[in-house]
Amino acid sequence: MSWAWPSDGLLGYGVWEVPEPLASAQMNLDQGGIGESPRSASNVTIAAHERLRQAILTVELAPGLRIDEDALAAQMDTTAEVLIEVVHALVHEGLVMPPAGDGVITIPPLSLDDLVELYTLRVVGEADAIWNTVPVLDPAACDRLADELRCIDRNGASAAGHGAHRRFHQGLRVGVGERRQRELSQLFDHAQRYSLAAGRRKLAKGPAEHRAILRACFSGERSLATQLLMRHCADTAYELIELQEPGRRAPSLEAAIELLSERFDTLV
Ligand SMILES: [Zn+2]
Repeated sequence: MSWAWPSDGLLGYGVWEVPEPLASAQMNLDQGGIGESPRSASNVTIAAHERLRQAILTVELAPGLRIDEDALAAQMDTTAEVLIEVVHALVHEGLVMPPAGDGVITIPPLSLDDLVELYTLRVVGEADAIWNTVPVLDPAACDRLADELRCIDRNGASAAGHGAHRRFHQGLRVGVGERRQRELSQLFDHAQRYSLAAGRRKLAKGPAEHRAILRACFSGERSLATQLLMRHCADTAYELIELQEPGRRAPSLEAAIELLSERFDTLV
């Protein structure tokens, strides 16, 4: 089985080596800042936050991993104060467990229950967002989305490909308010962690599904675009569940899809 979830949620406590790139964001920032733009605490914090965030989202730091705070700060070449700020922000994003005061940082483990919760929220939220977005997408916006799909085709499962995939889905939410966009982006990122942990780096059907969604947007077929996006999200969830526990049901996800299908069929 390719899914590398830790069975007990504990990995490498106390002996974890920070991968080399974790320190590199800090180093690059330092190199660029010397003598020109003075190094500020906020720049350092932003760079450290982004690097640690990416390490968690790309599962470079494995789900369930426990890391000694002092060791992490030292290996990231940053201070304890900066690390506290970074951890605080990541706890807020749900990417680090709330500290227990024992000097250890825990990366949230993955679970099938959480996966189903996550995708139930995503399906409902993304359906609502694209339903409100299709009417406000002009031809220029659709062209930009088409550019993102070409970028995915060119770059596949690389960081550039993932970035384009993220921007494509962001573009399908521009018709809703900032809070919903922010929450849905966060859910997308969390979902990505499940995909990468499963070793599922590229959707076999993804490109065709994305193009079908975009065609429906181009032609203003609001209901069709919504249905296709719901299916795109749900199929990913079912594929991940099947990889981990074949035959397992996902009642909340199934109920959400059934309810939304009825609604968006009748609101053409
Ligand atoms: Zn997608």
